[in-house]
Amino acid sequence: MTTEHVEVLIIGAGLSGIGAGYQLEKQLPGTTYAILESREQLGGTWDLFRYPGVRSDSDMHTLGYRFRPWTKDRAIADGGSILSYIQDTARDGGVDKNIRYSHRAVSAAWTSEDARWDVEIDTPSGRITMSCSYLFSCSGYYDYDKGYSPEFPGLADFGGTVVHPQHWPQDLDYAGKRVVVIGSGATAVTLVPALTDQAAHVTMLQRSPTWIAALPGEDPVAKALQKVMPKRAAMSVTRWKNIGMFVANYQLSRRRPKAMKALLRKGLQQQKLSEAQIDEHFTPRYDPWDQRLCVVPDGDLFRAIHAGTAEVVTDTIDTFTPTGIRLGSGRELEADVVVTATGLQLKLFGGLALTVDGEPVDLPHTLGYKAVMVSGVPNFFFGLGYTNASWTLKMDLTYEFLLRVIKRMRANGETAVVPRRQPGITERPLLDFKAGYVLRSMDAFPKQGDRSPWQLKQNYLTDLYPLRYGSLDDGVLEFSGAKAPAGV
Ligand SMILES: Cc1cc2nc3c(=O)[nH]c(=O)nc-3n(C[C@H](O)[C@H](O)[C@H](O)COP(=O)(O)OP(=O)(O)OC[C@H]3O[C@@H](n4cnc5c(N)ncnc54)[C@H](O)[C@@H]3O)c2cc1C
Repeated sequence: MTTEHVEVLIIGAGLSGIGAGYQLEKQLPGTTYAILESREQLGGTWDLFRYPGVRSDSDMHTLGYRFRPWTKDRAIADGGSILSYIQDTARDGGVDKNIRYSHRAVSAAWTSEDARWDVEIDTPSGRITMSCSYLFSCSGYYDYDKGYSPEFPGLADFGGTVVHPQHWPQDLDYAGKRVVVIGSGATAVTLVPALTDQAAHVTMLQRSPTWIAALPGEDPVAKALQKVMPKRAAMSVTRWKNIGMFVANYQLSRRRPKAMKALLRKGLQQQKLSEAQIDEHFTPRYDPWDQRLCVVPDGDLFRAIHAGTAEVVTDTIDTFTPTGIRLGSGRELEADVVVTATGLQLKLFGGLALTVDGEPVDLPHTLGYKAVMVSGVPNFFFGLGYTNASWTLKMDLTYEFLLRVIKRMRANGETAVVPRRQPGITERPLLDFKAGYVLRSMDAFPKQGDRSPWQLKQNYLTDLYPLRYGSLDDGVLEFSGAKAPAGV
């Protein structure tokens, strides 16, 4: 049986996979590649999530690709606009013709002798195999099939409707209904003000508070710059401004958490929340950026609270009842609809089972190399964006790194590259993040090390040089397969 072979096989046609295809088209024209997509559409996250108000929580100047600046006015954009941006990039870059929809990659086996990955793929007409020289996982970081829902006591007795934001029923009628949103993360703070447009009342029920900052939905600096320079240039400058702000904000949070807490509190006071409201509902027990900071554009959540159409309740769930939820405090929340905005279930590499020369890859015993490759796994790259800044900032650097490696290997006639683990590295969890959904899954992920190039810096400025320019002969990457010069 002949197997279709491509040089680069990308898994996932979301923001990351489409960017990868675009860069191959532009920077390495003529490269054979395909994108496997298990769903019937491209866009990943921005196609899957359809709950009311779905939007970015970082600015589009950095969530957009470096090679295709975001030019719309909204810095915090709605899900539909982001999906269109990804679709336009796929069409304009000629990437769409290389997407294989309804193709789910299930396993990948590397054979050193052939310097090749054989990838098993489930398709509507059965399982097929494709082979490739380079495998690039752009499968995101969570399970598409199901979100995370804890077991709630008494849930079976509840007479209303329960929905998870990952599977929002498009025909859900919440007009005039009492809605309780369980959760306090990015999804909950997005949903609550959005639902107030039709619901009779919306309650955000949180076990504990989250750090929240109100930001302008449109960037005033970007707008001012556009008056004095061409739009694309203005957007590029805005991107750098935002990168600087992310890094400064994160570093301040890590080094001077008290100062950052004071700044965030000041922001909440400017939203006209009372001191008691801030203490009870908006002052978390953890330091800023121990978990992702939530952004609310133009303070929409706070406006809904002031208008009386939304309320935040900080309490535990004792049990669901036929008509709502009884809380630990004894209070009863009446509800017609309950939204469990309780998070994602993490899943790495789209659940792909990897083997190298017949040996299964035991991911928890591997180390991430610059968080783009995995120790001991040849010609395998992965896309994992920043958790403390826009995802795409890291992806842009990942593309550059992959292209540099391929160019070098072509030039030298090399066929395999593998990061070799060095002795004496202290292991740490890959993501230094204390959010529940991360802590629940980190055991299954590769680790990071305590030093470069094994450390995950989560900092665009310090990642920029090693990924864009750093020597590939760093004593860690091992290249092989170079043909001997003629006559030797
Ligand atoms: C609601 C929500 C809002 C977010 N907002 C932001 C934000 O504002 N800023 C930010 O930086 N990040 C945000 N994120 C993180 C977000 O996921 C990334 O920004 C970005 O969309 C990730 O793109 P991706 O292509 O890497 O992954 P995804 O968008 O998850 O796409 C992965 C694709 O891979 C496919 N796939 C998975 N496994 C397989 C397989 N085995 N075979 C074939 N195909 C497979 C999936 O079907 C999917 O299409 C948000 C996430 C969510 C859930």
